[in-house]
Amino acid sequence: MSAHFVIVGGGQAAAQAVQTLRQSGFAGAITLVGDEPHAPYQRPPLSKKYLAGELARERLLIRPASFYTEKSIRLELGRRVEHLDRAARRVTLDDGRALEYDGLLLATGGRPRRLRVPGVELAGVHYLRTVADVDAIQGSLAGGGPVVLVGAGYIGLETAAVLVQRGFDVTVLEATDRPMARVVSPVVSAFYDECHRRAGVKLVYGATVSGFAGDGRVRAVECADGRSFPCRTAVIGIGIEPNVEIAQAAGLPCADGILVDRYARTEDPLVFAAGDCANQPDAHGERRVRLESVPNAIHQAKVAAHGLLGEPVPYTEVPWFWSDQYDLKLQIAGLSTGYEEVVVRGDPAERRFAAYYLRNGRVIAVDAVNSPRDFLLAKKLIASETPVSAATLRDPATDLDRLVT
Ligand code: FAD
Repeated sequence: MSAHFVIVGGGQAAAQAVQTLRQSGFAGAITLVGDEPHAPYQRPPLSKKYLAGELARERLLIRPASFYTEKSIRLELGRRVEHLDRAARRVTLDDGRALEYDGLLLATGGRPRRLRVPGVELAGVHYLRTVADVDAIQGSLAGGGPVVLVGAGYIGLETAAVLVQRGFDVTVLEATDRPMARVVSPVVSAFYDECHRRAGVKLVYGATVSGFAGDGRVRAVECADGRSFPCRTAVIGIGIEPNVEIAQAAGLPCADGILVDRYARTEDPLVFAAGDCANQPDAHGERRVRLESVPNAIHQAKVAAHGLLGEPVPYTEVPWFWSDQYDLKLQIAGLSTGYEEVVVRGDPAERRFAAYYLRNGRVIAVDAVNSPRDFLLAKKLIASETPVSAATLRDPATDLDRLVT
């Protein structure tokens, strides 16, 4: 009897896993259960071209619907997996049906972290994670601005860039003292602060949102220090929480994500996890990381698919990510946490530069702005752990190509 693999979740990781399973020659049954009503789609355009109205909804799909039919992949869309019984090797759906599996992949992603303050339920207050969220935001924007974005992370800043270019009055409220504080160094934050201000976005730091005022519909965002910012639409982008509940209830260890090894395997050899919901050891096994990016979802889903097939391959990809704001493509490789020094190559004034992060005489991460070459070279330097000094990097005459062995 041939095997049945069940994929829980209908996002980027799920789409990649089913593709890799078929590409690898797996001829058994595959069922993908996703609780959104759509076949797996790309989220990055949601805060970019789709929000700008420059991309049709069908173009968001990772694969056309016909792909799943042709590859005999059963899609259970608009359905939730409610329960995992590992002893019986069975998941139960929200309509009561049970699916038995020979291997299971949890690709449940994450959901927006909620802001628990008064007035958050008012009409006009939104989160941005799904296509339905963006469609609701578009409806809200039809009545005009002003718009307040809560959080100056990627989602808040990408949304700000699109909406200010669409002519809205845009304010970004950020609790810390700079944009993208969680992921980039002050020099990169300062650059983005300046770009957004020039474009007309109002950025306010040290702003802790304490509530939303309004009567049925939001009228203003209120801060703990008494400041109030008028708006007709507010979008909250303060991070995500991984969807771990099914795994947790089934007794699988979770800590900021479902714990997996470098093979995307949980403690249960038949259960794998990949994408935003998974927490894995970093390249050196020094600490655990949960990565929220398309490249991670793709790579880890491939790893998980090979694991399901009993042909384990380890996770080897250097983490990377991108963000588009205005004409700026930010490409990040590596993890800068714990860096000792930052070296900037290129000139921020020319809107093309790269910040290299060093620790122990090695490049551990780069933030490259409009500089794909720096991004690619740094990614190689990170992967090869090539020794390089700050002075060498700082010297504009240094040819990085020659450093990469
Ligand atoms: P998800 O895409 O979250 O998919 C998980 C799916 O599973 C969801 O549909 C969820 O509803 C469903 N699900 C959860 N639980 C169940 C259940 N019990 N039963 C059935 N279904 C379930 N990354 C980049 O690298 N670059 C970018 O520029 C970028 N921009 C982004 C912009 C936005 C607006 C957002 C929201 C994300 C962006 N990301 C970006 C992040 C990237 O999209 C995610 O890292 C990636 O989508 C993760 O894929 P995933 O499959 O792990 O999770």
